[in-house]
Order: sequence, then C-alpha cells, then structure tokens
Amino acid sequence: MVEDIPAAHEYPFKAFVTIMQGCNNFCSYCIVPYTRGREHSREPEKILEEIENLAKSGVKEVTLLGQNVNSYGNDLRDESRPEITFANLLKQVNAIDGIERIRFMTSNPKDFTDDVIEAMRDLEHVMPSVHLAMQSGSTRVLKRMNRHYTKEEAIGLVKKIKDTVPDVAVTTDIIVGFPGETEEDFQDTLDLVRACKFDSAFSFIYSKRGGTPAAKMEDQIDDAVKHDRLNRLLGVLHEISADINAPYDQRVVEVLVEGPSARDKRRLTGRTPSNKLVNFTGDASAVGTIVPVRIDQAGTFSLTGYQVKEEA
Ligand code: SF4
Repeated sequence: MVEDIPAAHEYPFKAFVTIMQGCNNFCSYCIVPYTRGREHSREPEKILEEIENLAKSGVKEVTLLGQNVNSYGNDLRDESRPEITFANLLKQVNAIDGIERIRFMTSNPKDFTDDVIEAMRDLEHVMPSVHLAMQSGSTRVLKRMNRHYTKEEAIGLVKKIKDTVPDVAVTTDIIVGFPGETEEDFQDTLDLVRACKFDSAFSFIYSKRGGTPAAKMEDQIDDAVKHDRLNRLLGVLHEISADINAPYDQRVVEVLVEGPSARDKRRLTGRTPSNKLVNFTGDASAVGTIVPVRIDQAGTFSLTGYQVKEEA
C-alpha cells in the first residue's frame, strides 16, 4: 500500500537509481514520513554520474526511484538553481549515451506536472509507462486519506497523459475498505477505474498501520465487506486489462529481453516499452538486448509471441 521502492538490481542491464528519499505528504494510512523522514532529493550531478557509470557498465534501462518522484528537486530548487525539476532530470538522463530506456516510480497524481507529460512525449528514451498511485476514486475518501486531489482531477490527469503520450500504459495502486468507505465511495472507485482504463493495478485491502491517523479512525470496515469489494474491483480491473491488451495481437513490439521465462524455460521473457510482460520464442543470445517480437496471443496479464528475425 505504501508507495515503496525496490532495492536490488535484478539484471546486469537494468538498474534502479534512487533520486530522492522520504516523503512530505503524510497520507493518513502511511508510516513512511514518520520512519524515513521528509523529502530529500539527491543532487542532479550525483544522479547523472551514477547513471553514466551504470551505462558504461552495460546498463540499458534505469528506473528512477522515490516515494514521490514528481516532486524531485522541490527541496533543492531556489533562485540560483531554478532549473532543478523532475522534467529537467529526465532530459539530462535521456542524453546519456547507452541508456535506452528510462522509467520512474512512484508518482502521486497531485504532483504530476505538464512538463513531465511533455517530457514523456518528447524524450526518445523515456518509456510510455506511468505508475500513478490513485488509492481511491472517492473524493471524500481521498480527503480522509489526505491525498490532495479529487476524483475528477485524477480522471483528468490520466486523460491528459493518454491524449499526449502515444501508446502509454497507466498502472495504479488502489486501497479498498479504507475506514468509512461506503458502497457509494466504492462505486466511485469503480467509476475511476473504468474512466481511466488502467492497464493493471495493485489492489490492496486496507490494513491498519500503527501510529498513523487512519489506524485511529473509528469507522473501520468489516473484513467480509473489504474482501467482497476487492473481488469486485479485481473483476473490473481484469476485464479492462484484457480489453487493453487485445489490440496487441499481431503487433510487433520492441522487447528488452530479460532471460528464460519463469513458467517455460524454453521461452524467453522481457518487457515492452509500456512495461508489459512478454513471453516469447526466440534466440537465447538476445538476453540483454532489445528485439522485435510479434505478439500472437494477448492475454489479460501478459503477451505471448515470437521473435521476428531481421531481414538479411
Ligand atoms: S505519498 Fe503518501 S503513501 Fe506515498 S510515501 Fe508519501 S505518505 Fe506514504
């Protein structure tokens, strides 16, 4: 539920780079601002130096990490350095030789500015994939969560991103059963999910975190109600994922090959620019490179296909 960040490097050609730590937001269910302190952005020079070194060591994809990456630089920017923004950081990383794919997470809708949307559209190496932690579609619940945006603002933001960035995939986090959530509030979440058409979502049942304001709220929701809502939410999310993935059938997509597929070692696995998982038949020597794959089966949770050989 917390917009947390992974720590380890999974593959030699993919790396996570922390650009900031901590959080200033105090969402009422979250312990992060108490345990990790306030937002602290790393100096851009240090980040760029780290990524240049990663590129020299063969890394092709970097994911810029922070609890709230879109507010990167807010604590560094001043009159002498007005240029320190997340959009400008993306531009600088985009210019590093050898880095072919740039991703970032996590994004809080309240801080997602137009310059970042334009950077996603204009910068060749910034991938068309965004993880926007929505948490709820009810403006009333969002207020109690201390999220600082409304249902309409959230839907408007996703529309703007989809209208601006071709082929973008938008994923999200949703919490069901937050204290005081009524059936009407839950219906607002389903409305949001249908309006935004998320490619996929991590959905969670609300559980108390000691020391947070939400844990002390009196109107906690019954477990059976929470589970029922989660199941209904998953039904809607899966239907949407299947609809979004269906047009991938017969398309050729560029896949960064990660290695053998977990389910079938005779196949390879990798990710599209929009971060969709692809299992495919192909050449094992392609691991760590980007290859064209024709999709011949577009499932709800992943795509299946075969590597297209380059013309001689
Ligand atoms: S934005 Fe909210 S949920 Fe995310 S880390 Fe900060 S306080 Fe926690």
